[in-house]
Amino acid sequence: MFNTMVQIAIFCRYKRGKSMHIDARPIDLKLTTPFRIARDVQHTAANAVIEIKHEEHTGYGEAAPSEYYGESIETVFACITMFAGNLGDDPFVIEDILQHLDKVIRLHPSAKAAVDMALYDIVGKMLNVPLYTLLGLNPNRTPRTSFTIGIDTPEQMAKKALLAKEYPILKIKVGTKNDLDNLKAIRDVSNAVIRVDANTAWTPKEAIKMINAMVPYNIQFVEQPVMAHDLAGLKLVRDNVPLPIIADESCVTGEDIGRVADCVDGINIKLMKCGGINHALKMIHAARTYNLRIMLGCMIESSLAITAAAHLTPLVDYADLDGNLLVDNDPYVGVTVEHGKLVLPDAPGLGVEVR
Ligand code: MG
Repeated sequence: MFNTMVQIAIFCRYKRGKSMHIDARPIDLKLTTPFRIARDVQHTAANAVIEIKHEEHTGYGEAAPSEYYGESIETVFACITMFAGNLGDDPFVIEDILQHLDKVIRLHPSAKAAVDMALYDIVGKMLNVPLYTLLGLNPNRTPRTSFTIGIDTPEQMAKKALLAKEYPILKIKVGTKNDLDNLKAIRDVSNAVIRVDANTAWTPKEAIKMINAMVPYNIQFVEQPVMAHDLAGLKLVRDNVPLPIIADESCVTGEDIGRVADCVDGINIKLMKCGGINHALKMIHAARTYNLRIMLGCMIESSLAITAAAHLTPLVDYADLDGNLLVDNDPYVGVTVEHGKLVLPDAPGLGVEVR
């Protein structure tokens, strides 16, 4: 694929003599251990880092494309090439720029998220404030993040739970025949708060049976028990289990919120699903009008994109921002985690540095 460094450098001139310049290059993140969920196993993540230059400032963004949502590293590079002549010359009009990119090409949310976070990074740097200040947020109000354990044998999952004892919240991937054995093995060695994520694995009937059987293991909530399109199934599950249900695959963009609001207790917002910080903020505020709980989640991402998302977490109930903690070769340093709590960097913009 993109084993060698590929650079897209398209130089655009504008009437007032200013110029915006965008570069993109691939980063291959290697997972510390194969990451198995109900429908997939992942060993690496082929992501892209972009740089937008405006005057003497550079903003950075990351795309973590997901085939499940119709993207790949190739589509990200194709989008960045298309975006290159369409950024205008004023990074402060983020709203206008993103609306324009939606006219250039529909969908492709991770490519747009990379541009979005690079623009917020530039604006923060130009104003010399961290992103949380730009957004009017209190950095002390970040929640604790969960740490995810992928599907494995009960012994291995218990071992991983022990290794993760510095994290007070675990997210356990489920959706196999051994779910109850896995949860028992983890509960035998850990008192952590446990969330489970079935990644669309069950039929509504299976979900109701499995979730009720999981109740004794003291589970905080269940993410995406059934297929993404099965909203009636989501509602049936929610009405027949005592645990809160959170929509992830069923809630991708802001347009989904009204559709899922009656079927679940909360939603999982990800920058890579919705198109970046700007859209995530709108989703957060829309979800509140429906009294939904809000989780901010991630894909397998470096500290660049994870930090961008972390700046929004003072607005949400739950964070699942551990994608960077699962990789061996994170090229960036940004948000850190202390006993699970997200600690935001206070440098201007995203506050992310090369490691
Ligand atoms: Mg999920």
